[in-house]
Order: sequence, then structure tokens, then C-alpha cells
Amino acid sequence: MPRTPRRIALVAHDNMKAELIAWAEFNREALAAHELYATGTTGTLLEFEVGLKVHRFLSGPLGGDQQIGARIAEGLIDVLVFFWDPLEPQPHDPDVKALLRIAAVWNIAVASTRTTADMLISSPLLAGDYQAVRPDH
Ligand code: PGA
Repeated sequence: MPRTPRRIALVAHDNMKAELIAWAEFNREALAAHELYATGTTGTLLEFEVGLKVHRFLSGPLGGDQQIGARIAEGLIDVLVFFWDPLEPQPHDPDVKALLRIAAVWNIAVASTRTTADMLISSPLLAGDYQAVRPDH
């Protein structure tokens, strides 16, 4: 059990969903110790295929990315695992950019590849008392 449960948001574009689910299955026990949030379809898969408890927002293209972005701005999300698709354009590309941008603005932890996500979820800093600096804009 981590000393500090983190608020982790998970998003995967359609071509990346299988990879995110495989990653989540591999890290199921670690993830279960945190508070999980996800866009609609990603969250449904995490709940029903991996068996994780997830707070589900709207589907990404319908506003889910923006809902997560708003929570990041409010200081309510610590980590974003966002497997965005590097090979296919998305109808909600502006929302994708906005989500990545707001995550950088507020200095939260972001993983966009499975390797980074593996390293992040197993980091002692994630499980420990590390407090990210919230920039004073
Ligand atoms: P989804 O949204 O989980 O509802 O598919 C992901 C996205 O495309 O942002």
C-alpha cells in the first residue's frame, strides 16, 4: 500500500486501448491502491476487463479530455497516463493538445508511453511522500 494514494487519470485513444489494458493488467495491484479516473470508454474497459474501480468521465471526444483537464487545473489530479495515438489523427485533436498542455502548466506527472508508465507506476516517489511543486502562475 503506498503511503500517499495518488489521483491517477487514464486515457487511451482507440488504437492504444489494448496497450493500456495490457499495461493496467500488469500493474493491476499497484493501480488498485490509487484513486483512478478515466475517459468513458477507457474507464469502462478498465472496470470490466481489468476489474479496477474507476471514476468515469464522458468519452474523450465528447468532452472527457476537457473534464480531466479541468480537474488538473483545479489541483485534483496528480498523474496522467495518456496513451495518445501517434499514427492517426483524432477528431478531438484540440482537446488532446489542451490536455497535454494543461498537464504541463500544472506540473503533474505525465506518461504517454508504456515504458514511461511502467517506470512511473513503480517509482518510489509515486508511493512515497513526494509532493509535486504546484507552480505559482
Ligand atoms: P475514450 O476517450 O476513453 O472515451 O475512448 C479517449 C480519448 O479519445 O480521449
